Amino acid sequence: MSAVKAAPLDPPALAVRFGNAGLSTGFRIEKYGEIEACPLIALTKRTPGPRPRIYLSAGIHGDEPAAPLALMEMLDAGVFDARANWFICPLLNPAGLARGLRENAAGLDLNRDYKDLQAPEIQAHVRWLQRQPNFDVTLSVHEDWESTGYYLYELNPEQRASLAEPMLEAVAKVCAIDHSPLIDGRESKAGILRPVSDPLLRERWPESVYLRAHHTTLTYTVESPSAFPLKQRIAAHRAALETAIALMTASAGQV
Ligand SMILES: [Zn+2]
Repeated sequence: MSAVKAAPLDPPALAVRFGNAGLSTGFRIEKYGEIEACPLIALTKRTPGPRPRIYLSAGIHGDEPAAPLALMEMLDAGVFDARANWFICPLLNPAGLARGLRENAAGLDLNRDYKDLQAPEIQAHVRWLQRQPNFDVTLSVHEDWESTGYYLYELNPEQRASLAEPMLEAVAKVCAIDHSPLIDGRESKAGILRPVSDPLLRERWPESVYLRAHHTTLTYTVESPSAFPLKQRIAAHRAALETAIALMTASAGQV
């Protein structure tokens, strides 16, 4: 873990921005909890007809500002349109984001808490998730202080069509890919980590393992390199996420 800290964000102000931008583009805004006077918010929008259900989350690590800011930009740009049914949790850890720290106010890494459910933030998030349907794909947005480029994790237990390569091809146009053979202690190939051991055996669950266990058969965790300029990291996230969305929705809306 790096001692370098990210510039803090203003989570209550960001929540208002997400709320206003969401309301003006047809989203329902749900407050599913509150931390330090900041609402925990989820944005949902359903479109009539068969549409893929796409879940996105950000801000679970408070020192990874490009993640919520990328979702904010995408919301402003109208990316979350009629192609899909959307489920978006953009600010999972307001206390961490307000301090520019990875953990919450009690020092817990929230992205290891989805089995034990010790943190109020994760208890509230899981209660919200339990009310949602299954998702066709989940996209969890992160940053990494140690990586030399962009990379992603894929959990794809049913061997569905992978989105990983096209996502990274799109990212490569705006940001270097981390080609290290070992990232975060795990084997990596051209920026793609596909953990081989059964994640259900893991003792401490990140969000992606919870989602795989209860909500989806296709999860991505995308990681931008924190050492790069913020604008570039946001652009890289947009390239990855918008490519995944385009592929998932390729047949939607073609009446
Ligand atoms: Zn993270």
